[in-house]
Amino acid sequence: MKLTVWRILCVAACLAMLAASQACAAAQEGQAAASTAPAKVAPVEHMLGAGTAFATPYYVIDSGKPGPTVMINGGMHGDEPAGAAAARQIRFWTIARGKLIVLPEANRLALEVRTRSTPKAVAAKLGMEETNLNRCFASTRKESPKGPLAAAIWAVLKEVKPEWLVDLHEGFAVAGENSSSVGSSVISSRSQEARGEAQAMVDEVNATLTDEEMRFLVKSQPIAGSLARAAADVMGVHSMIAETTTGDQPISLRSRQHRLMVHRLLADLKMEPCSVEVVMGDAAGKIRVAIYDGEGAHQGLSIDHKLVDGSDMLVERIGPPELGAGALAHFDVLIMPGGSASAEARSLGLDGRQTVRQFVAGGGGYVGICAGAYLGTSTYQWYLGLVNATVVDGGRGKDVVTMELTAEGRKLLGEKTAPFEVRYANGPIVVPGKRTDLPAYKELAVFRTELEMMDREPNVQMNGSPAIVAATHQRGRAMCISPHPEATTGLEDLVRSAVRWAAGRESTSATPLPAAAIP
Ligand SMILES: [Zn+2]
Repeated sequence: MKLTVWRILCVAACLAMLAASQACAAAQEGQAAASTAPAKVAPVEHMLGAGTAFATPYYVIDSGKPGPTVMINGGMHGDEPAGAAAARQIRFWTIARGKLIVLPEANRLALEVRTRSTPKAVAAKLGMEETNLNRCFASTRKESPKGPLAAAIWAVLKEVKPEWLVDLHEGFAVAGENSSSVGSSVISSRSQEARGEAQAMVDEVNATLTDEEMRFLVKSQPIAGSLARAAADVMGVHSMIAETTTGDQPISLRSRQHRLMVHRLLADLKMEPCSVEVVMGDAAGKIRVAIYDGEGAHQGLSIDHKLVDGSDMLVERIGPPELGAGALAHFDVLIMPGGSASAEARSLGLDGRQTVRQFVAGGGGYVGICAGAYLGTSTYQWYLGLVNATVVDGGRGKDVVTMELTAEGRKLLGEKTAPFEVRYANGPIVVPGKRTDLPAYKELAVFRTELEMMDREPNVQMNGSPAIVAATHQRGRAMCISPHPEATTGLEDLVRSAVRWAAGRESTSATPLPAAAIP
């Protein structure tokens, strides 16, 4: 039910956003520097709590023109990832007047372990008695914030003196359906301005929903101890807590809802924000990785963890709306994760699949894992056709299997000389395809296990068949990984190496694919 809603929503959103995003993309490329285009001002990074264990960056986007100061805050609770993601993405936005202050990962220590509160052992060391960061802020001038992290955040607030503050959170259920959660709501402080704007923000998201049960609503008064409440009570800030609902909804959908709400506020304040679909920008040399999380893509978070841990990458999840609006232009690599290849293809749609093909042909990297590996091959017209491979079997069940890197695989993916275990879940078994317009793939790894399934293709041996294949594709690179190294403890480096190769940034010790594979 929800998946269907997501699909309908995405199609509608794609169409609606195309025009606006094209305008913004043009402005960003500097092709249409009309006087109304947002100023191209890079966010200035500052470090909150510099030198401490809880240090976390915040960003100042200063248009250089007088106007409101708005603070956007995410990651106050570590198990509410969409708020942090949205704030990370918003830091790349441009505005035409005023200032935007963005603190994406307020409680970085909790986000790292995906717990609501600061882990107790760490909190004790840091002198934080109250581990729930959003209960640490004082509602009167006489009291001080509890603990050094809340104090550091409060100090930033006092310094930048925002007129508006939106703190991005998530609930576990839709408040309109389940009063024990605050999901899908904007909790407004008491000022009339805040209440009016909270309603506008809610309306903005509701216009994208087709399911009545998912509707957002306005609630009153942020809880005592919250940053939003303290900002309103002590500094007179028009503040609100915006809440999406986790449920089984993709992160890209939830973070987009957050962006829609913030975008509405900035637009109403006449700050002329760029497109709501801008989710990435200049990354100072880091590899910018998009993980597809539209319908059909598995929603597990293991990939994010393993990549974010590598400090040379920025990772965001994107769905059909962002893809349709041209967001891939700001990424180096697209990961198509496991799930269902046919469902992924369906949610991408004809246009989405063409967008991915163009992205890779134009120099982008593609890493397909399991379902994403099927999609990367040329087996069917409706696959992406990035690699000259044909799937001859899959569906061998789920198990831990062994695979072995080839000599070329060891150069690109790490010096593992012996076969090793990897999770496998019905990944594709491929043979060379018959396309004449694509180079032959290179085998980077082969299976060393034979999974005996009742209904498997009798003529296809899994043992010895390729587990990982890769090839250049016009100006880009594509890799198809049949098993699940991203879900196998100990293979984190292999996944990162795959992404680095796809981005054309393999380490200098690795040699590029042999010339035979390069057209
Ligand atoms: Zn929260």
